[in-house]
Amino acid sequence: MANRRNFIKTTAIASVAVALNAFGKKEDTETTLVPKGTIRKPIVLSTWRFGIPANEAAWEILKNKGRALDAVEAGVRVPEGDPNERSVGYGGRPDRDGRVTLDACIMDEYSNIGSVACLEHIKHPISVARAVMEKTPHVMLVGEGAFQFALLQGHEKENLLTETSEKEWREWLESSNYKPLVNIENHDTIGMIAMDANGNLSGACTTSGMAYKMHGRVGDSPIIGAGLYVDNEIGAATATGHGEEVIRIAGCHLVVELMRQGKSPQKACEEAVNRIIKLTKYRNKNLNDIQVGFIALNKKGEHGAYCIQKGFNYAKYDETGNNLLDANYFLK
Ligand code: ASP
Repeated sequence: MANRRNFIKTTAIASVAVALNAFGKKEDTETTLVPKGTIRKPIVLSTWRFGIPANEAAWEILKNKGRALDAVEAGVRVPEGDPNERSVGYGGRPDRDGRVTLDACIMDEYSNIGSVACLEHIKHPISVARAVMEKTPHVMLVGEGAFQFALLQGHEKENLLTETSEKEWREWLESSNYKPLVNIENHDTIGMIAMDANGNLSGACTTSGMAYKMHGRVGDSPIIGAGLYVDNEIGAATATGHGEEVIRIAGCHLVVELMRQGKSPQKACEEAVNRIIKLTKYRNKNLNDIQVGFIALNKKGEHGAYCIQKGFNYAKYDETGNNLLDANYFLK
């Protein structure tokens, strides 16, 4: 309590100091200050059970005082390269034309961003997204352009459609019924957010998207602000689930903005999910058909997670270890 009082006192003084911003408007200084008190760092969070091995790789970097950006890239490369993970990278389920098309994005503590969408034949789209961020004047490359850029960066052209994926796709062709199932892994994304020992935040997000989607369909995962957002003053968030719904509310940007307004990561995730629920009802759609989950982290190292339906879990690695946690949910 004493800490909180001190915090309020500090911010009150700060408010007086910069009561007016450059436009002559009153500014809410409390929300722009880095919180005082105990900061839990390093810490890394990632979506679903494949977050456990992904966190292990990220932790190797974080525990050695490495940069969060390097940690999240290394982390999500684990499921990207694993053919048994059927919704990310190599081994991911294809689109309805039998093509594995991948989406990924990355964001660092300086708000540098990079993204690729509908990328084919490249096992590690997250590293291509990072190269877009670091080596081009752009923030997003798609399709053939992203592929050519990846080759120039030294990535190999590979066949990402495994035998199992091809067999399932051929079976699916018999009905050709597009129905993304809730919590059944014909979709799912690894979204990872981390704070390093220096207190800096970064995030990465990568997926093969919805199984049997239309060719060219892009979800939320490569869209900065939808599937991922990082603000090094405030916090970070990432999403999984039906990307169309996450894009509709600019989900992860919303979660971070809610934290900026003073909400805890948990409350921010809940409010973003509630926004989707409200719009689903408004649009007369069936909520039972939709799953969206958010995870969020603030600058204190506090975290939160929330989803629409039971079944979403996420992995958290901090000084207490690497643990798989169940997210709370709306539809009880
Ligand atoms: N958000 C991903 C997409 O819409 C899929 C998922 O996470 O389930 O492509």
